[in-house]
Amino acid sequence: IICNKEDVIKAIETHNVKFIRLQFTDIQGVVKDVEIPVTQIEKALSSGIYFDGSSIEGFVRIDESDMTLKPDVRTFAILPWSKDKGGVARIICDIEMPDGRHFEADPRYVLKKVMKEAEDMGFSLNVGPELEFFLFEKVDGKATTTPHDYGRYFEFAPTDLAEDIRRDIVLTLTDLNFDIEASHHEVAFGQHEIDFKYGDALTTADNVMTFKYVTRTIAKLYGLHATFMPKPIAVENGSGMHVNLSLSKGDENAFYDPNAEMAISETTRQFIAGVLKHIKAISCISNPLVNSYKRLIPGYEAPVYITWSGANRSSLIRIPTARGKSTRVELRNPDPSCNPYLTFAAILAAGLDGIKNKMDPGKIMDYNVFELTKEERVERGIDTLPSTISESADYLEKDELLKNTLGVHVHDNILRLARAEWDAYRTQVHDWEIQRYLNTI
Ligand code: GLN
Ligand code: MG
Ligand code: MG
Ligand code: MG
Repeated sequence: IICNKEDVIKAIETHNVKFIRLQFTDIQGVVKDVEIPVTQIEKALSSGIYFDGSSIEGFVRIDESDMTLKPDVRTFAILPWSKDKGGVARIICDIEMPDGRHFEADPRYVLKKVMKEAEDMGFSLNVGPELEFFLFEKVDGKATTTPHDYGRYFEFAPTDLAEDIRRDIVLTLTDLNFDIEASHHEVAFGQHEIDFKYGDALTTADNVMTFKYVTRTIAKLYGLHATFMPKPIAVENGSGMHVNLSLSKGDENAFYDPNAEMAISETTRQFIAGVLKHIKAISCISNPLVNSYKRLIPGYEAPVYITWSGANRSSLIRIPTARGKSTRVELRNPDPSCNPYLTFAAILAAGLDGIKNKMDPGKIMDYNVFELTKEERVERGIDTLPSTISESADYLEKDELLKNTLGVHVHDNILRLARAEWDAYRTQVHDWEIQRYLNTI
């Protein structure tokens, strides 16, 4: 385990590392990186590396663009697929302003701020994500939407053609210090899931970013295209990133209470209530694309209604059966196109809001909400998730708590990006419209 500058230098020598990739994530959740030769590492570790922040989406104005990348040494890792060309390592970085202050729109910083707030209340958030993705065929080097196999949920050989690829992804992630729990074929053709062990919110957000580029890189080595697009095929399940959430208080799981109803603590209920209260605004962050909302429709195991329940999978929030140390809530609307730092920050802030204000999540809905009629839903007060990115943006705009959590800069930029995304979409005429109207209207 690497914890300081000396450890990094030693690891670089032992593994004959020649290049170091300094990584960070922009507001949209895209990994950015600058590569330095090993000769620059001393400088990078002591004073950081300058970069032009004005060229990064949603970062800074042109007149204040000299930002510094400050490597977080604990994230040092050798990139396993590049050994034969001389080792390549990566370090994830924090971002500082020219005057040495934290850059307020650095997604890692936004998350760290909320984690600090939780810590002041005695809590720390654990997150265990479940990332789903598709493997598609490539033709002439270009990705298609032809699935790589025609397997279904938990499919086994010979229909599941991806077991070697999943294993290769798992082994590579293991080399990068991931603790992998399981991997399997998912419900849709060509769709897979790999689950890794929960960790603190920051480590897990870093891991989500790493997971995505490892998966894409390994798929490419097999001549395939891996995508985390939320809904690539209209008539199949989309890809979600369910997040399993729990709060630790010291050594205890603050969500477990053996004597309470359902054996979940009052804190759990309040946390859930806070998340439910802010979920429409959170959606703008956890489901940031036009395409995200094509996943959130009935019939494909993705949530649509704002409900919570026991183990029932039709809910937005469900409580998996495990109790004791494993007590957790699973939030099911996020998808893997989101920025995980900002998504976890928003969820944690909402949960803490619920705890501070002793909110009540209302009755559990332990039945399939999709079988209710519209009247029955209205009668039971069941609300619906936003159905477009435009609608989510309107909720995020009004959400003061999330505005404070994200900071004005990130809040403004997320809204700007969401609305630009929506405008880009609504100003096109799509094939569907041509086919539907051209000959009949
Ligand atoms: N793919 C589904 C979703 O979009 C989840 C399916 C599952 O994990 N059972 O959330
Ligand atoms: Mg799963
Ligand atoms: Mg799944
Ligand atoms: Mg799940």
